[in-house]
Amino acid sequence: MCADPLRRFLDERDPPTPCLVVDTDAVAARAREVRAAFPGALIRYAVKANPAPPVLDALVAAGLGFDVAGPAELALCLDRGVAPADLAYGNPIKKPRDIAYAFGRGVREFTSDAAADVEHLAAHAPGSAVSIRVLLDAPDSVTPFGRKFGCEPAEALDLVLRAAALGLRPGIAFHVGSQQPDPGAWEIGIATAAKLFAEAAAQGVAMTRLNLGGGFATTHRTAVPALDAYAATIASALDTHFAGEQPELMLEPGRVLVADAGLLRTEVVLVAQRGERRWVYLDLGRYNGLAEAENEAIAYRFEPVTTPGGPRGPVVLAGPTCDGDDVLYQRTPYELPLSLTTGDRLDLPGTGAYTASYASVGFNGIEPLRTYCLGRWGDA
Ligand SMILES: *Cc1c(COP(=O)(O)O)cnc(C)c1O
Repeated sequence: MCADPLRRFLDERDPPTPCLVVDTDAVAARAREVRAAFPGALIRYAVKANPAPPVLDALVAAGLGFDVAGPAELALCLDRGVAPADLAYGNPIKKPRDIAYAFGRGVREFTSDAAADVEHLAAHAPGSAVSIRVLLDAPDSVTPFGRKFGCEPAEALDLVLRAAALGLRPGIAFHVGSQQPDPGAWEIGIATAAKLFAEAAAQGVAMTRLNLGGGFATTHRTAVPALDAYAATIASALDTHFAGEQPELMLEPGRVLVADAGLLRTEVVLVAQRGERRWVYLDLGRYNGLAEAENEAIAYRFEPVTTPGGPRGPVVLAGPTCDGDDVLYQRTPYELPLSLTTGDRLDLPGTGAYTASYASVGFNGIEPLRTYCLGRWGDA
C-alpha cells in the first residue's frame, strides 16, 4: 500500500478520472515554510493558482493574506473569513466598478500599471495603497507575461508621483513571470525598484512598500532552486540596493504554495499508432486541467499507476477533446510503457496549481476538473 495520502485516497476511493487530489496539510506546511523563508514579509496567496475553499481555509489558518484578481475571488476570500486588511487586489486590469466594489468591501491595497487605472483608483478607492508595477529587463520565466503588464521605469516614476498627488499611497511592484527558475530575476527587480524609491524620494514622495510578486518555481521534470535559494538572493539584493531603510515587503506567491500538494490522476482513452509515432490520448487535456501545457511550457511528470514495468517507448501525449490544439506534448520527449493501453491510469505529481482553476466549464461536455481536498481542512 502506498504511504502517500493522495495516492492512497485514489487507490481506495477510485473516483472517476480525471481528478485532482490536494493535501491541505501539505498546503499549510508549505505556507509555514514560505513565512519562515521571508520573515516579516506580508504573504498574499495568489488565489487564481487554486481557489478551492479548503485550500483557502488551510492558508487562512497558516496566517496568510490573499491576492485577488477580481470581485469573485475577493468575495470568496471574505466568505472564508479573511479580513479585508489581508487582501490585495493585484490585477492591474480592472473595471472602475470592480475597484469601487473592492473598496466598498474594505480593500485598501491595489496594484496598477497605467495612468487611467491610477485615475480610477483615486476616484473609487481614495487614499488606498497602490503599488506601481514596473516592467523588468529580466530573464524570461517558463510562462512569461510578455509585455501585457508593467510599465517602463520612467513611466512608473510618473505614475508614482501622479498617485501621490491624487492622495494615494504609492509603492513599487514587479512580477518576474510565473515558474521563474532564475532567482537573479528578483535581484534585477529589486535594483530597479530601489532606483525608483530614490528618484521618488528626491521629488518628495517617500515610498515604503515593495511588492516582489510571485513566480517561485516548482519541480516537474527539471529541478528548480529551493525556496531558501530564492530567499537568500532576495535578502542579499535588498541589502545591496536598499542601503538605508529597508522597504516593507509583500509577496504574492501562488504556484509554490499549492503545486506540490496536488496530484492529478488520468486514464488512457486510446493508444493509436499514426505513422512513426505512438499517440496516447488521455481523459485529461488542455481544456480540463492542463492549460499550462500550452506551448509545452510546463512539462508535467506522468507516472503509470497500473502498468509500471516493461519496456518503454516514445509517445505523443494528447487530450480527449475534438480540438486540434488539444495536444499536450509532441516536441517534448516522453516515454511510456509499450504495454500501456485503454483504461490504464497515470498520475501527475506536483499539479495542485493552475490545473482545476484553468479547466473549462463544459467544452465537449466535459465537466470542470473535480478536486478532492484531504487533510485537516479537507472536504473529501
Ligand atoms: C499570477 C500572479 C501571481 C502568482 O504567481 P505565481 O507564479 O503563481 O507565484 C502573483 N501576483 C500576480 C499579480 C499574479 O498575476
